[in-house]
Amino acid sequence: EAKEKTLIVVFGASGDLAQKMTFPSLFGLFKDGFLPPKTHIVGYARSDLERKKFEEQLTGGLDEKESKDKIEEFKKISTYVQGAYDEDDAFKNLESELQQMADKDLDGESHRIYYLAVPPSQFTSLADKLHKNNYKGITNRLVIEKPFGKDSASAKEMMEAITKDGWKQEEIYRIDHFIGDEMARSIMQLRFANELLIDSLFNKDKVASVLIELKETFGCEGRGGYFDEFGIIRDVLQNHSMQLLTFLTMDKPESLEEDHIRDEKVKVLKAIKPIKNDEAVMGQYIGNGDKEGYLEDETVENKESKTATFGEVVLRIDNDRWQGVPFLLKAGKAIEEDALRIVIQFKQPEKPLYPSEEPNELVIELYEKKVYFKINSKKPSMEGGIVRPEMILDYENKFDGLDAPQPYEFVIREVLKGNQKSFVREDELEEEWRIFTPLLHFCEGKDSPKPVEYKYGSNGPKESLEFDKKLGFVPTKDGYKLKNIDV
Ligand code: NAP
Repeated sequence: EAKEKTLIVVFGASGDLAQKMTFPSLFGLFKDGFLPPKTHIVGYARSDLERKKFEEQLTGGLDEKESKDKIEEFKKISTYVQGAYDEDDAFKNLESELQQMADKDLDGESHRIYYLAVPPSQFTSLADKLHKNNYKGITNRLVIEKPFGKDSASAKEMMEAITKDGWKQEEIYRIDHFIGDEMARSIMQLRFANELLIDSLFNKDKVASVLIELKETFGCEGRGGYFDEFGIIRDVLQNHSMQLLTFLTMDKPESLEEDHIRDEKVKVLKAIKPIKNDEAVMGQYIGNGDKEGYLEDETVENKESKTATFGEVVLRIDNDRWQGVPFLLKAGKAIEEDALRIVIQFKQPEKPLYPSEEPNELVIELYEKKVYFKINSKKPSMEGGIVRPEMILDYENKFDGLDAPQPYEFVIREVLKGNQKSFVREDELEEEWRIFTPLLHFCEGKDSPKPVEYKYGSNGPKESLEFDKKLGFVPTKDGYKLKNIDV
């Protein structure tokens, strides 16, 4: 359970993630009474932030409707400490500040959470300095953000460096906030709380193909510096998409205990071969007359960059349950819609009584919080005929006052509770990188092909739609816009 007397230190407090995600999530937890009694929040960064500037960082990401009184209370439990990320003296100073806070408000002792909201280049030095100077809590936890490394070798190197510094595996919390997404989490219940109805469909005999797609209307405007170094595979496919894939495909865990779920996730990852170079479509957006193309963005320094802003790969799971089923993972920026969607297409019977050109589908819309089957149904008329309405579970409609926790609120609460099952285990990370590293090296090698072009605001590269078809994914007529059917 969440421990009393906790100091949460956010490194990179002057940055984007801290303002947009970390501080608002801490506020959300504070407001709802989910922070332990006697918690103190410390923002830490190199920037010289006056109190007013720090408070802007702390509360600038909050909704305007939030209670002013709560915001004032939240400010009172938060302090800024300025310092370097690589000098012992700075960490000694931090320690004396932390000790003073503990003496003043926390009966002299504290559990410690060190949250690294800084670029990955700073992780190992910070982990080292922290272990040396500030490993003084009753418990000490280190929280890090993806990307965890850039490929198999660098991820291994980073983890070895952090554990060599003295941190134990069980003290390291690797955040993939998709694990905290309400709808991603609900995949477990959808399958295993309806085992004979739904999970019994989840296998090669019933499923023809699966698509997992993350589309963003926004390009890389203003963040080209970060993005150009990482690209779409490291930004989305290798981590977030793989979390959804494992929730969808793992076998039933023995129990909901700590490691049983992650054991099953790792098992399914181990059954996936690395992606072949010719089984991927990599794209980069170009301007559309209104919006600039990726290479025109002033924050993208390399004007010949081959960094992909769109990627699609096919994965195959080599086990009894899934043999032969293609899993298409697609992610892109500057696409026509914002969507995070899973589509499971089912096989057609050999001799149907009511032939249908289109397969049954189970669709999970994670942003819109809807789950539906597209089913064949009698057309309401004298003659009959087949139409395809949806059987739908609409969370927002069904659950009055649905106030699902934000993914970051959920995962930070899990850090407070010490629930490692909501984080990426080291062997899970290793398997994810094993699957993507050869493709990454191919795309970044000397003779790598240029990504194919697609227009800002389009539906992605045409090559991707051809790829879907080649792999047997059927583009259904109505797509995934829910609408009434004319009869
Ligand atoms: P950021 O704004 O670029 O950096 C955070 C802070 O780190 C900066 O305010 C700066 O603080 C310090 N910093 C920046 N560049 C540095 C450098 N080269 N050397 C040392 N310190 C540096 O980064 P962010 O977007 O907040 O992301 C932080 C971490 O979260 C990264 O690992 C990122 O991959 C991950 N992440 C970010 C997002 C997002 O939406 N932004 C989403 C998911 C994951 P000072 O100069 O004041 O010390």
